[in-house]
Amino acid sequence: MKIIKCINCGVYNKNRDRCKNCDALLSYKKRRAQQIKAENTERLEKAKKSPPDFIENLQQHRYIMFRVLGWILYSAFVVVSAIGAFIAWLVFAIAAG
Ligand SMILES: [Zn+2]
Repeated sequence: MKIIKCINCGVYNKNRDRCKNCDALLSYKKRRAQQIKAENTERLEKAKKSPPDFIENLQQHRYIMFRVLGWILYSAFVVVSAIGAFIAWLVFAIAAG
């Protein structure tokens, strides 16, 4: 038998993955895995939302050539994002299929 004290509310739980009182995860390993997953998701969301800084810097460059290059890279970024979203949707559609 394993008794774990909930770090969230202090209630003692016997052989449970989640706290019977507040539903917090009790196992350190599972908590850590969940945290890593959340961090990865957050990082992915951040990366998806905005193109890399250097592209934005290029778009404001004083030489038109670099600004054009910035726009080309920006367009490529948007296209790649769209393809990525499409593939994600496709995988989801197949998995749900
Ligand atoms: Zn609890």
